[in-house]
Amino acid sequence: MTEHVYFMALGGAQEIGASCYYLRLGQHNIILDAGTGQKEGAVYRPDFYSLLTSPFLQSLNQIQQIYISHAHADHVGALPFLMHSAPHSDVYMTAPTAILSEYQLYDRNRYLFSQKGEAQRLLTQSLLERITTVSFLHPFSFGSYQVDFYPAGHIPGAMMTLFTFGKRRILYTGDISLEETPLAQACLIPKDEIDTLILCGLHARHPHYQRPAGMIEQKAQKVLDMVHRYHRSVLCQMSQLSKGIEFIKLLNQYNHNHIPIYVDSGILQVAEKMERLGIPILSGSGLVMGAQPPGTPHVFLTDRQIPELEGFYRQVRIDFTLHADYRDLSELIRRINPRQTVIVHCAPSDIPGLPTIEQELMLDGDCRTQFIFAESKEIYQLI
Ligand SMILES: [Zn+2]
Repeated sequence: MTEHVYFMALGGAQEIGASCYYLRLGQHNIILDAGTGQKEGAVYRPDFYSLLTSPFLQSLNQIQQIYISHAHADHVGALPFLMHSAPHSDVYMTAPTAILSEYQLYDRNRYLFSQKGEAQRLLTQSLLERITTVSFLHPFSFGSYQVDFYPAGHIPGAMMTLFTFGKRRILYTGDISLEETPLAQACLIPKDEIDTLILCGLHARHPHYQRPAGMIEQKAQKVLDMVHRYHRSVLCQMSQLSKGIEFIKLLNQYNHNHIPIYVDSGILQVAEKMERLGIPILSGSGLVMGAQPPGTPHVFLTDRQIPELEGFYRQVRIDFTLHADYRDLSELIRRINPRQTVIVHCAPSDIPGLPTIEQELMLDGDCRTQFIFAESKEIYQLI
């Protein structure tokens, strides 16, 4: 079994949340992403312990490498917990992903430790110091396999991970976008022939869904317009910090009337760190919110709940998705044309009986791919 390749989803298989996938390359035990999910207000993590009833591991100590695709909570939220449980693992992600993740993992209680307060902060800090940052197109070698990283689009720092193991190539996409997003370029597809594509295919069962073009751009314009026309301050409640970073960029871009834009200090710190990596966000206009909101109408952007400030504002909740839609996914599979596609991170069909991406591509004579819609905790031997 030393040359065999196995795959098992520990979370985020045919559902969204707690994305985490085990990949066995010969003797190497690899984890792809370690996210959290949310159900009825409660945070949950992947089922890491199902690995211990598999034939592969006796202890999470045997996990060697962890690759994090991007900084959304459903891909990184459980990382500190996993690192704590797998002390011999090395963790790889890009520098922007490390910056965006760090703030979220400290300030949001997403990591599910029993330790609280300062003890939790110190533990998280010591774990995050173990992270190795990687660059696109700078491969790493681990003896019997090599790994390369490619831009995935979606959000800053998002990466696809390409494993070369003997003659086989396996590409894990994470969330991807074929088009550019406010802060990220489109994904860059490897030129090499791919045997297995492990695809985060959120919309693979939604043939009628089309990503609304310009949706967040319109939202940014609407927020600015509300302040300008009605002279009332607007509080933008962001669902996640990384989305806040994208939204500031857009607000600055459309702010022709020079409306003051305030952020809280946490968001500002992250934005400044990102700027140091050469990702422009603030355009010199980041104002920090103090204890009291200013008198002049303005926009305030935060990812925290601040009940004492809410009465001052008209509130708008901002959430958006920059995932590849069904057409993009089918285009991506056609372009890569892998021998096998494993679909994960896939939301159930909203209308029963619709054709799947598998049925559509089966009719395409040039498409050679076989599909696996991976189920949680099932073990699959890959080609
Ligand atoms: Zn994502």
